[in-house]
Amino acid sequence: MSLDELLSRRPNPAGVVRNLSAPPIERLAIVTCMDARIAAFGVFGLRLGDAHIIRNAGAAVTSDVIRSLAISQRKLGTRNVILMAHTGCGMLSFTDDEFISELTDATGQPPTWRPGTFSDPVQHVRHGIAQLRTSPFLHADTVVRGFVFDLQTGSVDEVRDEAPVPATRKPARAEAASSG
Ligand SMILES: [Zn+2]
Repeated sequence: MSLDELLSRRPNPAGVVRNLSAPPIERLAIVTCMDARIAAFGVFGLRLGDAHIIRNAGAAVTSDVIRSLAISQRKLGTRNVILMAHTGCGMLSFTDDEFISELTDATGQPPTWRPGTFSDPVQHVRHGIAQLRTSPFLHADTVVRGFVFDLQTGSVDEVRDEAPVPATRKPARAEAASSG
């Protein structure tokens, strides 16, 4: 379908947002991938007006995502952030170096940004959570939760922090010292 054909069939949205205010009702911002198969509102049972949705290739926490979140929080009242990557992401299918080479060969100049590919969605979300939690531009009381959406099963699995070392387990040096 050409872009002209596509634009000609769009519904008239007049009146849909008449009773909604700009600040998201659930005070929530969701950062997720641009993948065409993700209905970001539907995944979390949200309705129009409930949340900001910030999307890019791979749900990467870039400086532009931080920019949008800072505005979302300070100008539009959101607090909680959901970061959601997904299985089968296109960003799993090539590497940063490959893409930088491809762009450089095609254009004669390397990009000024990292493509942001990754090899494990869970680790990718953990890394993003850490970036969000340490950003000085987000409110200190921001609650950040991370998820991986499984495109095959539809399940949305929470990414937990790495399991902490049990308190009862002593460091190896201490054990060696106490046993000697
Ligand atoms: Zn993706």
